[in-house]
Amino acid sequence: MSDPTPIRTEIASLGEFGLIDYLAKKNRTIHSSTLKSIGDDAAVIDPQGKKMLVSTDLLIEGIHFDLMYTPLKHLGYKSIVANVSDIIAMNAIPSQVTVSIALSNKVSLEALTELYEGIYAACDAYQVDLVGGDTTSSQKGLLISVTAIGWADEDDICYRNTAKVGDLICVTGDLGAAFLGLQILEREKQLFLSDTKIQPDLEDQQYLIGRQLKPEARLDIIQSLKRAKIKPSSMIDISDGLASELLHICTQSNVGALIVESQVPLHPDTQLMALKFKLDPITTALSGGEDYELLFTIHPDDHQLIQHLADIYVIGEIKPASEGIQLQTTGGNFHPIKAQGWNHFNNI
Ligand code: ADP
Ligand code: MG
Repeated sequence: MSDPTPIRTEIASLGEFGLIDYLAKKNRTIHSSTLKSIGDDAAVIDPQGKKMLVSTDLLIEGIHFDLMYTPLKHLGYKSIVANVSDIIAMNAIPSQVTVSIALSNKVSLEALTELYEGIYAACDAYQVDLVGGDTTSSQKGLLISVTAIGWADEDDICYRNTAKVGDLICVTGDLGAAFLGLQILEREKQLFLSDTKIQPDLEDQQYLIGRQLKPEARLDIIQSLKRAKIKPSSMIDISDGLASELLHICTQSNVGALIVESQVPLHPDTQLMALKFKLDPITTALSGGEDYELLFTIHPDDHQLIQHLADIYVIGEIKPASEGIQLQTTGGNFHPIKAQGWNHFNNI
């Protein structure tokens, strides 16, 4: 028996205010700093003596995501993750977000409900309040803009421009998997477009595809660093690849770096799939994007302390600027690291 035709409700049937009410129905407030959430001209937030951090991202269909292989629930989740990751990379705790959307008439109420299921799931996972947004129409394609707000004591905030010579360079998790997940999804999309009878062969690559479609931000890492009383000397999240993020830290801090290839954490599935795509596995870590792991530096005195923390890897050392930014390969050679991170403008 074939599936019944899915129900499709036009968004226009609710009207703008009906739609906002509908989307806000499941909204809950967790934080005492949220004094007024959705429902007035502006949200009201109480700083409670802390410094406020603000970060915004704009996601555009066809540029940042492809609805052919991105389930809307995952897209909603990921759009929150990408933003809270920026707040976390400042060593701050995210606590409020706003979500603005522009919808074409292609998007049904059912589709939007899925998107918001993902948004609310992420708000729950990262304990942030959805306090507002804007809803409008678009002639073509879906646009999502998320603004995340977080809080920190001034002394805890980690910038990109404060790495010092002799600091150890650390990364979390493993790198390159999200990029390979995207390559698999893109390959199957092209095959499907060439012959719609071809069923996608995702090769049982749940890990890689999961890392692309459902990334997580490393709130757990900044919490465990705080418990261990380690404050990174600089920090950034890895959204555009290790090479590009390392260059940001080095350029802004006016230092160089040495990364040891054999220390860079790669998942076994990443290693295998990189070879299938005829790529050097380290390239996926250096140039692949969207891992949402953290790259940070610590004072060498904290080396002992950090060894006891799960999922953090020391991959190199900050050097004087005159030594450049280098990769020591497993074969013992030295190569300069250049930024080859994903550049959205290449698409234009
Ligand atoms: P205004 O006309 O003053 O911009 P709106 O009617 O757009 O107000 O919004 C009413 C309330 O609903 C505001 O609190 C706004 O932040 C919130 N809101 C609007 N769109 C969204 C959305 N997509 N997600 C969450 N909150 C929203
Ligand atoms: Mg508005």
